[in-house]
This record gives sequence, structure tokens and C-alpha cells, in this order.
Amino acid sequence: MNQKNVSKSALVISAHSADFVWRAGGAIAHHVTRGYQVHIVCLSFGERGESAKLWRQGEMTEEKVKQSRHQEAEAAAAILGASIEFFDLGDYPLSSDRETVLRLADVYRRVLPHFILTHSLQDPYNYDHPRASHLAQEARIIAQAEGYLPGQTVLAAPPVYCFEPHQPEQCNWKPDVLLDITAVWDKKYRAIQCMAGQEHLWEYYTRVALQRGVQAKRNIGITNARDITHAEGFHSIFPRVTEDLA
Ligand SMILES: [Zn+2]
Repeated sequence: MNQKNVSKSALVISAHSADFVWRAGGAIAHHVTRGYQVHIVCLSFGERGESAKLWRQGEMTEEKVKQSRHQEAEAAAAILGASIEFFDLGDYPLSSDRETVLRLADVYRRVLPHFILTHSLQDPYNYDHPRASHLAQEARIIAQAEGYLPGQTVLAAPPVYCFEPHQPEQCNWKPDVLLDITAVWDKKYRAIQCMAGQEHLWEYYTRVALQRGVQAKRNIGITNARDITHAEGFHSIFPRVTEDLA
């Protein structure tokens, strides 16, 4: 059986509980407004590595941090209009086994995404990020295999877009897609503000969106010309198949 073209969906695979907000919040909100069902998998809460502000409060436990990050991520997903689930694999290090890969493959089979957003293939500052990216791709390929749980609808070959890492140059990440998120920037910024544990990044990711917005405006073709102020960049892994090069 092949993937049916019913309502469109997208799958976002995030190593930690806030990555999807900084790196893909605009893409999520944008596609939700276009009628896509967007589902987010948070592989961990980022309780050890991406919650410094909470730990500095003192009297903190890993459980309390996880709970706080869980609530923040749920609030952000609700603003963006996406569904969300948590694998709670732990971070620093993010670890996965055979069961984890199959659990994620089952999410693919359930969601049957038309595209996937995940981390860059490299990140020398954060090994959880490339691990999440590898996991996302391995599970995608299993979900495409006719021999895995035969009888289920098999995943087609949805494009995989790596969202922007914190230090793009060191991650060998180079955008080949710029997505206009101007119309949904207010939603993305409201989602960003849910991340109380990482307030130092709010302004940083506002600047990233403005920078990519200028680049998007500079690169847009005649047929789509419009005012763009905010954008998100993506690095695609596979060639895009199209019938029109404009
Ligand atoms: Zn992260």
C-alpha cells in the first residue's frame, strides 16, 4: 500500500523541549494556517543541557525541571497549533535503542507526514542534536519499508529539512530553503515567550528571523514577490522533485 494523499501533515522531531520553537516555530504555525496537521515529537525535555536558568534557582531536581519544560513546550505547541508528544529519553546524553527507533517509526506510520523538520546532521556543540537527526532519518526509512509491519500504509519519501542550528557554520549547515514566516511571526514570538527557562535566547532568535527575512526578500523570484520581514532557513537533505522551476 502506498501513502494516500488525504489531509496534509508534517512531523517535527526535536531533541529537546524548546528546539522546535526557536528553529521551526514559524514553519509549524505557517503550515497549520495552510491546513496541515503538524505533530511534534520532543525526544527529551532538555532537562540537563538546556535548562540552566532553572538549575540556577537552587532547590531544583531533574523531575521539577522536566515538569517545567514539559509545560512550556505544551504551551508553545498550543500557540503554534500543533500536537505534541514526549519520548522522555533523557538528554546529555540523549540515548536511544532499537525500541526507540521503532517507536518513532510507528509515529511516522501514524502521522504519514508530507515533510519532516529536524536537526542538522552535525553539531559539535551539542551531540544530542545530530543524534536526534539520525534517529529521525533511521525511523523514516523503516517506516518506508514494505516489510516493516506489513499491511500498514507505508510512508512515501517525504522531504527532510534540517532546521537552523545555533552555530550554523560549525555545523556545516547552509540554508537552501528560506520560508516566509512574516504572517505568523507574532505566533512564533508568543511561543518563544513560553520558554521562560531560556529567556536569553528570545532576542537572539528574533534577530535570526529578521536576518533570514532580509535574505528571503533578496532571493525571492518574480512570481512570488512580496514584502517579507521574517523567515526561517532550512537545509534540505534530499533533492526536491518539482514540475516547475520558477
Ligand atoms: Zn537542543
